[in-house]
Order: sequence, then C-alpha cells, then structure tokens
Amino acid sequence: MALAVDSSLNKADLNEFQSTFAGQIILPDDGTYEYARGIWNGSIDRHPALIARCTGVADVVAAVRYARSTGLPVAVRSGGHSFPGQSICDGGIVIDLGLMKGIRVDPLEGTARAQAGVALGELDRETQAFGMAVPAGIVTTTGLAGLTLGGGIGWLMRKYGLTIDQLLSVDLVTAEGEFVKASADENADLFWGVRGGGGNFGIVTNFEFRLNPVGPTVLAGPIVWPIEKAPGVLRFYRDWIEDVPDELTTIIVNRKAPPLPAIPQELHGKLVTIITCCYAGSIDDGERVVAPLRKFGSPLLDLCAPKPYVTHQSMFDASYPRGLWYYFKPCDVERLSDEVIDVVTDYSGRIQSPMSSMPIFHLGGQVARVDENATAFSGRKRGHTLNPNGITKDAEGFEDERAWVRGLYEALEPHHSSVYVNFLMDEGEDRIRQAYGAEKYERLKKLKKEYDPDNFFRLNQNIPPD
Ligand SMILES: Cc1cc2nc3c(=O)[nH]c(=O)nc-3n(C[C@H](O)[C@H](O)[C@H](O)COP(=O)(O)OP(=O)(O)OC[C@H]3O[C@@H](n4cnc5c(N)ncnc54)[C@H](O)[C@@H]3O)c2cc1C
Repeated sequence: MALAVDSSLNKADLNEFQSTFAGQIILPDDGTYEYARGIWNGSIDRHPALIARCTGVADVVAAVRYARSTGLPVAVRSGGHSFPGQSICDGGIVIDLGLMKGIRVDPLEGTARAQAGVALGELDRETQAFGMAVPAGIVTTTGLAGLTLGGGIGWLMRKYGLTIDQLLSVDLVTAEGEFVKASADENADLFWGVRGGGGNFGIVTNFEFRLNPVGPTVLAGPIVWPIEKAPGVLRFYRDWIEDVPDELTTIIVNRKAPPLPAIPQELHGKLVTIITCCYAGSIDDGERVVAPLRKFGSPLLDLCAPKPYVTHQSMFDASYPRGLWYYFKPCDVERLSDEVIDVVTDYSGRIQSPMSSMPIFHLGGQVARVDENATAFSGRKRGHTLNPNGITKDAEGFEDERAWVRGLYEALEPHHSSVYVNFLMDEGEDRIRQAYGAEKYERLKKLKKEYDPDNFFRLNQNIPPD
C-alpha cells in the first residue's frame, strides 16, 4: 500500500518502518485518522504526523526505533484517558497500544497478565469470572496502563491497596527500543519507578498483577441528599469514616443529579451531595457498617444495595463519556475540616453545568499501610483526593466551568497537602514535584537519567533527567 506522507516524514524511512510493522499505520489522509487522533478529552484537538497502532511487543520496538529516527515528538497512548491529552501530539508520532488487548487470568496462581491496551472493565470481566479483581479506577473505559503507572485509586483500595500494590512485574520497551523486565527481583529500581512514576521510563507492554477475592456480589451504590444538607452530612461522614473498616471505600460527589433511569425524574438537575459506598466484604457486614450513614439526615434516595461488582464499577461511566470537554484541578487534603467542608459546599452550590462535579475520594486503609518508600507513588498517608471537574458538551460555557474549578481549587489552597499525579493537567514542574515530594522527585530524576537520558518520553507528567 502506498502511504501519503506528511512532509516531516521521509518516505523511504517510512516504507522501511512499514515493512517491519504488523499493526496499523495511520496518516493524516487516512479515512480513520479523524477518529484515531481523538482522545477522551474532547477539548484537546491535536494532529499527529503518524499514529502507529501496535499489535505486540515487536511493533512497539519497531515504532520506538522508527520514532527515534525521525526526531519528532512521541506520545504514548493506551486507553487515551489522559486528562490533559498527553497521549496525543501535534506533528509527532503516536505509539498506540490500544489494540493490545490480551488478558490471561490464572485463578490457581491468583495472578492476571494484561497487555497495555486493556481497559479497566475488560480486566474486571475476566477476573470476576473467578470472583477475583485487581483494584483499579472507577470508570470502566479508563486505560489500565496509564492508571497503573500513576498509582491507581478506586473502589477496592482501602481493602487491598492501590493498583500498583498488586503489581508483580512489567515488560517494558526502553527509549532505545530494548526489551526489559522489571519486578522485585529484576531491575528493582525500575520496578520502583514504574509504580507511580508514569510513562517516564519506557513503554510498558504487559502488566502482571496479584488477584484478590471480590464479590462477585458486593454491597454498593449511592446515597443522595439535597446540597442544602451537605454541611451536616459531610461533618457526620467525616467523623463516621474514622472508624469504618478497610472493606468500605466511599466517594463523595457533589453535582446536579444526572437524568439517569435509576434517579427519579423530580431530582434531575437538582444540586445534591452523593456518598457512594462499595463494601468489599460480606453483604451482611456491609449492611451493618453502612447503616448509620443511610439513617443520617433523611436521604432523598438510597441505591446502596447488593449488586454485581462489575455493575457497580460501571456506575460512573455515563457521567464521563468520550468527547466532552473536560477540565480538572486536583488537590489532596489531610482531613475534611469544617473549613474544607464549607468551601466545598459553597462552591458545589454554584455548579452551573449539569455535568460538572466535585468528587472527593477517601483513602487510608491498606493504601496508607504500605511503606511510603516502597514505590514512587507519593503521599500514602493523604486523607482525601479532591478532583473538581468542569465539563461541557463543547466550547460553549467551558471558560465558565474552568473558572469555577479554579476558584474552588484556590479557595482550598490553605488546606492542600499533596496531589495525585494521574489527576494533573499540564500544570508544570512544580505540581509534578508536589505530586512526588522533593526526595522522590530527585530519585526519579536519577532513574530517568539511567533509562531515558535524552528525555525521549517527555509527553507525560515529565521528570526531566537534569
Ligand atoms: C473518566 C476517567 C476516570 C478516571 N478515574 C480514575 C480512577 O478512578 N482512579 C485513578 O487512579 N485514575 C483515574 N483516572 C485517571 C487515569 O488514571 C489517567 O487519566 C490515566 O493516564 C489513564 O490511562 P490511559 O492508559 O487511558 O491513558 P493514556 O491517555 O493512554 O496515557 C496517558 C499517559 O500515560 C502514559 N502511558 C500510557 N500508556 C503507557 C504505556 N503502555 N507505557 C508507558 N506509559 C504509558 C503516557 O505517559 C501517556 O501520556 C480517570 C481518568 C478518566 C478520564
């Protein structure tokens, strides 16, 4: 097949690359280019010179070597869910792992292997067939690769830890196109770095995880109050979670009630505070633990009930579809103090867009029990991760939503403790340093110097080698 070539690409080199590549090479005049250059965040509109859709490790090696020879910027894409769109670039090469969907669960060994293109829901489907799970995030379309490399917080974290805490090994292609493995016994320094350090050290092609028993039925779902009750409900919640067992993970979301079938029509569009529970233990124990919350303050709606874990996992999917315009400005706080609750409630009351929201994750439990220095992920003792998001269908109203998110972030500034790297936008070196803390940031820089001294992988939450 003759390829129409962007002027920045040498045709002979491209032909040679094509002869070594089994996957799809997508160029700007290809009929699939428009869809292929799209990512989850519709506000990002970039035009790469070439997208290389890899089918396996050999393709990834070929793509890295080819991309290196062009001198063009290189983006790495797995699930395409990067908030700031770091997995797509203008005028460069996108190494896309989205076709690499292999999953192998070994229920006897209690492990799962997943290639980089796997989405969270795809892994859950395979592991839940055996009543097992890898703790990961809360939207099933999210890429496992990017999520894992930054840490991975979600419904099972207080019981079993972060996604990286399940990781046994990775296969990785370096900036030189070399294949290496990393685990506790092999390239242990690299294994430390990929557990939180993102895509800075190479392209992970395969992940090996330890599995944990979960469900398949869990007690889970949202309990909803009107926003006017948020100050009291959140104060009660703050005190209540002090003593809840690790099996329970909860997420607060303040927003306008979405028009979903499970929500009565009269609530649609009303500002509400929602506390969603997921109890990773027996249903009876879960009922006992959740009882005080569901009795507090006469909720408008209580949908916390036994259900398949995979059903619960997809609960937020409808709220975060591909293609909307998204803006985030995350921060962590140690505690939901009265001041934090009052700021959050005040700003939640001003939400305009029917899609924008104010999620607050409760960490602790097993996340905090792992030694802070065991992985590059930083801030295991953080109490809560806040991820205010402004969402619109398109450009209309987007600036107002961004202003709302920024206002909330700034009002919370006196209470910030750290930030979760996977929730950052393109926010500059200081914020990345804040995500790792000064000591780990320096250690990560040394590792970067060893594995990627030219900063070949720089379209990410970048840790420059010097
Ligand atoms: C709707 C939604 C819900 C989310 N929910 C959660 C959540 O519950 N918990 C949570 O922890 N996070 C969550 N996130 C954040 C998520 O962890 C990050 O956006 C993550 O980067 C997504 O991974 P991806 O593979 O889809 O990303 P991509 O956009 O494909 O990649 C993002 C970056 O990751 C790196 N990368 C990707 N693949 C590889 C690879 N194979 N090898 C090396 N580097 C790679 C690259 O630097 C790339 O720029 C959510 C994001 C979205 C959009």
